[in-house]
Amino acid sequence: MKKQIFRAISAVALSVLLASLVLIVGVLHGYFQDRVLAELGRSAAYAARAVETEGAAYLERLNTPSNRITWVAQDGTVLYDSEEAPDGMENHAGRAEIREAFLTGRGTAVRQSDTLAQKTVYYALRLSDGSVLRLAETQYSVWMLVVQALQPVALVMALALCLALWLAGRLSARLVAPINAIDLSDPEAEPDYEELAPLVGRIRSQNREIRRQVDALRRRQEEFRAITGHMSEGLLLIDRETRLLSYNEAALRLLGAAEPAEEAPSVLTLNREAGFRRCVEESLSGHRREELLERGDLCCRVFANPVEEDGTLSGAVLILLDVTEKERRETLRREFTANVSHELKTPLTSILGTAEILENGMVRPEDIGHFAGNIHREAQRLIGLVNDIIKLSRLDEGGPVGQWETVSLRETAEAVLERLSLAAERRQVSLSLTGDCGPVRGVPQIVEEILYNLCDNAVAYNRPGGSVRVTLSSDGQGERAAVSDTGIGIPQEARERIFERFYRLDKSHPSGGTGLGLSIVKHGAAYLGVRIELESEPEKGSTFTLIFPKAPQETGGGEGAVCADPAVRR
Ligand code: ADP
Repeated sequence: MKKQIFRAISAVALSVLLASLVLIVGVLHGYFQDRVLAELGRSAAYAARAVETEGAAYLERLNTPSNRITWVAQDGTVLYDSEEAPDGMENHAGRAEIREAFLTGRGTAVRQSDTLAQKTVYYALRLSDGSVLRLAETQYSVWMLVVQALQPVALVMALALCLALWLAGRLSARLVAPINAIDLSDPEAEPDYEELAPLVGRIRSQNREIRRQVDALRRRQEEFRAITGHMSEGLLLIDRETRLLSYNEAALRLLGAAEPAEEAPSVLTLNREAGFRRCVEESLSGHRREELLERGDLCCRVFANPVEEDGTLSGAVLILLDVTEKERRETLRREFTANVSHELKTPLTSILGTAEILENGMVRPEDIGHFAGNIHREAQRLIGLVNDIIKLSRLDEGGPVGQWETVSLRETAEAVLERLSLAAERRQVSLSLTGDCGPVRGVPQIVEEILYNLCDNAVAYNRPGGSVRVTLSSDGQGERAAVSDTGIGIPQEARERIFERFYRLDKSHPSGGTGLGLSIVKHGAAYLGVRIELESEPEKGSTFTLIFPKAPQETGGGEGAVCADPAVRR
């Protein structure tokens, strides 16, 4: 603003200065020319009278006249000239002032000299003898005067410029001060200049509108954050240049990325995997893309979709789903299916083969019993396997597996040992039950199944002359049932794996188990909220301990009541 004011003041000052210079010089020049003519007229009249009386002698006497004097005869011949010899001078009859004087008795003329800088003013007077006496005076031309005046004018101009600068500074400071004093973020007071009132009013209303919109935006952003922050799915919003516009915690967790330090970083800095890059690039070229990312144990599926606004691509949205559990289950399911098929195939192949031999009459009558026994054994194994699979899938699906009741572990253990007595006898293994404990809450069928499987294994993986002991006890942690055997034991490295489906340490072991027994134990225990501990020493024996949570005090629900206590169901 200071610059503009300075320019305006300087322009006005300079143009006024130059205009007045030209005007003054022009007016003064005209005035002085008239004065010179008048002066010349007076001198010419005086000289004319003297020449009429004294003739050329008068002129000769004036050896250094102040004006140039020329005496011209009637025919235009120069009779006398105060500056040049008349002989060498041309005829003056054609000169304007001379011609005019011949005609009217008096003539004037102003002529530019050779240089533009000067001009000459002539005054001619006709004498009584018809000759003409002319006086001339040389003056500076008006342009010369202007040029001569330029130096002082330049000084004045410099002064004017300084003054303009100073004035501009003061003026702009004074003009701007009230404008600067307006608080644009909150222009509550009326401005000093009434001209600014509409502008300030408009700013005020715009400020209110901006504040309202910012509040609404902030509210919406907080809502969005609250919603996406609690999502288990990851969400990423990116623009066309892969800049991250919005994200949630889950997305960072699934990609294994830290909180971005800079504002709107490239989404590609969050994860360097080729699959993730493909998702970003494909979606930003307008195509939908889906990829599975694996990071350690974590599996995450990325769905990338382009986002279009008015038909033009503006970015992409990426949804990330944690599919670790799903993938794990899928792998387990595949393994399980493969194992089931394999396990079912073995007894079926055996039954088929034996049946074929019988059918073809290739068996002697006395061997039929042996072959039939074979079919019977394999068929039983098949049924056992199918039953185990059914039990497992029921436990897996959390479907109805029986009612929760108060169960006596002692009674259950007695029944289990009773069922196993024949098998134990066959293997020359002794069975015993010691101690006692309080009742537990559980599904009786599952409690019995768990105990049965543990005792069955304890007999199966025992040695002739060995023993199986079930010990019941109570402590602060709950009710305990420990199944100990004096069998082959389990090596340290296999202790986790024996609970896996179809895992068998020694597939050629004559127990002929399905490899599902301990898996049913594990799932059943998890269903009941029972903890399993295992101690084993190879070649000496193993002890599986079940720790049941303490049953809550009976409140009159009675036997057979469905237990809804989450502490018991867990
Ligand atoms: P199986 O039907 O083969 O008995 P399980 O799931 O019950 O299947 O047991 C898995 C494997 O764990 C068995 O094949 C066996 O090798 C081992 N095992 C289970 N119980 C015992 C035990 N008491 N002593 C030694 N090994 C055992």
